[in-house]
Amino acid sequence: MQRRDFIKNTLITTGAVALGSCQDKTPDANRKYEGQIAIIGAGAAGLYAGQLLEEQEAKYTIYEASDQIGGRIRSLKGLADFDLELGAEEIYGPPSQWYDWVKGAGATLIKSDSANDFYQIGSQIQNEEQLKTNANFQAALSLVREALSYTGDDVTLLQFLNARSVPTDVRYVVESILANKYGTSASRLSVKSMAEQSNIWSAGTDLYTSTNLSLTNVLTEKFKNILPKVILNMPIRRIDYSNERIMLEDSQAQRRFVDKVIITVPLSILQSGDLQLTPALPETHTNALKNIGMGAGMKVTLLFNKRFWDSNTAAIYTAGVVPQFKVNSYGREAKSFVLTATIMGEKAEFLSTQSATVLVQSILKDLDTLYGKGAATAALTNARITDWTKEPYIKGAFSYPLVGGGGLLTRQALSQPVKRRIYFAGEATHYGGHSGTVHGAIESSRRAVDELLRDVS
Ligand SMILES: Cc1cc2nc3c(=O)[nH]c(=O)nc-3n(C[C@H](O)[C@H](O)[C@H](O)COP(=O)(O)OP(=O)(O)OC[C@H]3O[C@@H](n4cnc5c(N)ncnc54)[C@H](O)[C@@H]3O)c2cc1C
Repeated sequence: MQRRDFIKNTLITTGAVALGSCQDKTPDANRKYEGQIAIIGAGAAGLYAGQLLEEQEAKYTIYEASDQIGGRIRSLKGLADFDLELGAEEIYGPPSQWYDWVKGAGATLIKSDSANDFYQIGSQIQNEEQLKTNANFQAALSLVREALSYTGDDVTLLQFLNARSVPTDVRYVVESILANKYGTSASRLSVKSMAEQSNIWSAGTDLYTSTNLSLTNVLTEKFKNILPKVILNMPIRRIDYSNERIMLEDSQAQRRFVDKVIITVPLSILQSGDLQLTPALPETHTNALKNIGMGAGMKVTLLFNKRFWDSNTAAIYTAGVVPQFKVNSYGREAKSFVLTATIMGEKAEFLSTQSATVLVQSILKDLDTLYGKGAATAALTNARITDWTKEPYIKGAFSYPLVGGGGLLTRQALSQPVKRRIYFAGEATHYGGHSGTVHGAIESSRRAVDELLRDVS
C-alpha cells in the first residue's frame, strides 16, 4: 500500500476539507490590466500564469533561467524505447487540472495499483499479498496510517517512530512511503504538518503514469500559444521594487522595467538569495522562507538488457540506498527494461557527493543482493543520474514541512503579495495541501493571477 492509499483512507475517515483559497478561481474576464507583467520561471506554474494572463489580454513576458521550459518536469528521449521522466512523473487526480491536461493531450494513463508493489523483507522481495500475514509489515502499514492522521506534538517522523516500537526490518517502509514521498528524510519531516497537508488533499485518491506521451510534450502542446513569450537563458538576479516601476536585472546586468512581477522560482532559489529583492522581502516572507524545507533529491534511471524482477512488479521498496524504484517498463509494450530510483533527503545528499560510478555501483549492489547472482550488475547497459540539487536553477527536490515551521499557515504567508506588485506562485506557495506536486504548482498560479487581477480591478 502506498501514500495514495493512506491518503485515501485518511480522506475517507476524516472527510476532505475544502481547498480554501488555493482552489481554482477563474479570473474575472472583465478585469483588464494595461501594465507590463514579468513572470519569473517557466515551470508548470510560470507557464500557466502566462496562459491566464494571455486569456486576460495582459502584457507579459516569462523569463526562464535555463535553456528549456518545464522546470522540474523534464523528459528524456532516446535512452529507452519510450520517453522517461527525470522529474515529476506521477499524475495525481482526478480531480486535478494537470490530470485533465495530460489526459486531454491524448495520453494513455496507467493507474498505479499497490498490489504490484514489492517490498524488501530481509534479503527477500515480496508483494502485499505475500505480506498479508507478515505482522511486522502490517505494523509498519498501521504506523503509516497513524502518522497520516497524527495531531500530537510537532515532531519529526524519526522522533515519531522512535517513540513507538517499530520492527527494524520494516522501519524503512514507513520512511519510504512517507518521508521519501514528501521529498525528504524521516529526520527532517514534520509528521504533524505532513498529516495536516494530507488531510486537506483534494486531488482524489489515484495516481497515474503516462505510457505514450512525455510530460514535456504535454506542456509544449498545452502552452504552444504562449511559448513565444518565454525568454530562455535569462536568469533574473535582482528585482528592485523600490521605485515606481519595477526593475529586473539579469545575470548580464541588463535591466528591464515592468509594473508587476509573478515569482515562480523554486523555494531554494529564494532561500539561497540567488534571486534578490530590493527592498528585502517583509519579515513574514523571510520567516516563511526559513520555515519551509527543501533539500536534496535525485532520480537515477537504469537501463537493463533483461528483466530480473517479476513481470508484475510496478515498484520496489528497499531498505538500502534507494527507498523506491519505479519499474518504468511496467504496463508498456516495450523492449527496454528500465528502473528509476527516486532518492530524497539525506540519502540523496550523500549520493550527491559520490562519483557517478560509485553511486550506480551502490544501487546495483542492493539490487544484486535482493535478486541474487549479480543479476542487476550483469544486466545493466546504461545509467542516467539526474541530481536536482546540482541543477543551478532548481537546487533541490521540492518543498516539505519542517518541525516548528508552522505548516500551511507558513506557506500562506509566503504566498502573500507584496505591495500589490510582487506575487508568488509555484509549488511551495500552495497552502491547500498540494505543495510538492505539479497540480499544486498549477493551482498556485491561478491564485497568484487572481490576486494580481483583483489588485488592478
Ligand atoms: C525528482 C522529482 C520527482 C517529482 N515527482 C513528482 C510526481 O511524481 N508528481 C508530481 O505531481 N510532482 C512531482 N514532483 C514535484 C513537481 O515536479 C514540482 O512540484 C513542480 O514541477 C514545480 O513546478 P513549479 O513551476 O512550481 O517550479 P519549477 O518547475 O521548478 O519551475 C521554476 C522555474 O524557475 C526557473 N528559475 C529558477 N531561478 C530563476 C531565475 N533566477 N530567473 C528565471 N528563472 C528561474 C527554473 O529554471 C524553473 O524552470 C517531483 C519533483 C522532483 C524533483
